Amino acid sequence: MKIKENFSLKDLNTFGVEARAGYFAGINSEEELAELFRSPVFKENKKLVLGGGSNILFTGDFEGLVVKVNISGIEKISEDAGGVILEAGAGTVWNDIVDFTVDNNWGGLENLSLIPGTAGAAPIQNIGAYGQELKNVFRNLDGYFISDGRKKTFEPEECRFGYRRSIFKDELKDKFVITKIRLSLRKNPSPDISYGSLKSELERLGIKQITVKDVSKAVSSIRRAKLPDPAVTGNAGSFFKNPVIDREEYLILKKEFPEMATFPAEDDKIKIAAGWLIEKCGWKGKKFGQTGVHDKQALVLINLGNASGEEILNVAGKIKKSVRDKFGIALTEEVNIY
Ligand code: FAD
Ligand code: NAP
Repeated sequence: MKIKENFSLKDLNTFGVEARAGYFAGINSEEELAELFRSPVFKENKKLVLGGGSNILFTGDFEGLVVKVNISGIEKISEDAGGVILEAGAGTVWNDIVDFTVDNNWGGLENLSLIPGTAGAAPIQNIGAYGQELKNVFRNLDGYFISDGRKKTFEPEECRFGYRRSIFKDELKDKFVITKIRLSLRKNPSPDISYGSLKSELERLGIKQITVKDVSKAVSSIRRAKLPDPAVTGNAGSFFKNPVIDREEYLILKKEFPEMATFPAEDDKIKIAAGWLIEKCGWKGKKFGQTGVHDKQALVLINLGNASGEEILNVAGKIKKSVRDKFGIALTEEVNIY
């Protein structure tokens, strides 16, 4: 394991913005992580753990040590009549795990097809899409506290999974490095196709007996049509979270904006599609120099070429202000800003 200095992160974040790390280390095993923990560079600098860089915006150089977790591999660690438990290294590409399960006709991950990034980052914001979330298949995870190198296995209730959040995005943000995750998959899958656009796509394809492979293909095809490919246009998916508001506030807003896109959320609250709010403020498809708002989903900010992280954050700030002025709603960032 080599520690590099003054290392460019441009190719390691899907926004494709330039930022340099004071120090950079890629770790391929828990042993290498232990070695890193003992190094003076680790002890003397602030740390940032990096996966695939698909949920990050660098707004400047990181004056510390960036640790890229590359521990990879997928292994079936147990099996019974009902299902299997898979273990994956934190650096495994998330969609490789999805493909592996789909190829085996194991149910649970098909709705989460084609989400960029790594296995280790999946629990951080309890990744979710098309009506499913990681927590529905999550078994447990291993990792180490950055402060003292202590190892811990987190069971589901300890992760405090919520809507696009977990303890690792709250109290333990930047304090714990995930090295392995375990997932429970079903051998007799019953795909959940209740999400509107997924249902329509499967209806359009006219498939009668829907398999996990059909769902995965349909999700992938919707995503390819709607979302910018980071390999072509820099982005980090949804920039903001969908706000979840109280019923009273919802009823007032709904009177003024009857067409507002809303969905029931936990605890009798209401989720509002942030993309709809941003679109209604006129941002969809707008371009500002090297940055812009995606023309098919206003929740996605894009780098048109050589934008800096600060320029993107600046546009995000203007969007937040206009949504607050028009709807009285405070958007919060889903992307991790550094
Ligand atoms: P990174 O961006 O590298 O890191 C994200 C955060 O996790 C950082 O704070 C980082 O410090 C921390 N982290 C990463 N790895 C570890 C680790 N091993 N241990 C501890 N901390 C770690 N997200 C969804 O939920 N649903 C979607 O449908 C979705 N669609 C997307 C579509 C596109 C086109 C893009 C670009 C992004 C999308 N995302 C989506 C966001 C993103 O892909 C996910 O949040 C993904 O899980 C991030 O993984 P990553 O490895 O790239 O994490
Ligand atoms: P969409 O289908 O246009 O819907 C817009 C928003 O409405 C979504 O954010 C979604 O909330 C909500 N929604 C729609 N139908 C719903 C239903 N039946 N039940 C509950 N909520 C519903 O969204 P999209 O942009 O094309 O994305 C499709 C899916 O991929 C969504 O689940 C989205 O979260 C996910 N995605 C996430 C990211 C990311 O970076 N986080 C990026 C791209 C896509 P939810 O977001 O809560 O599902």
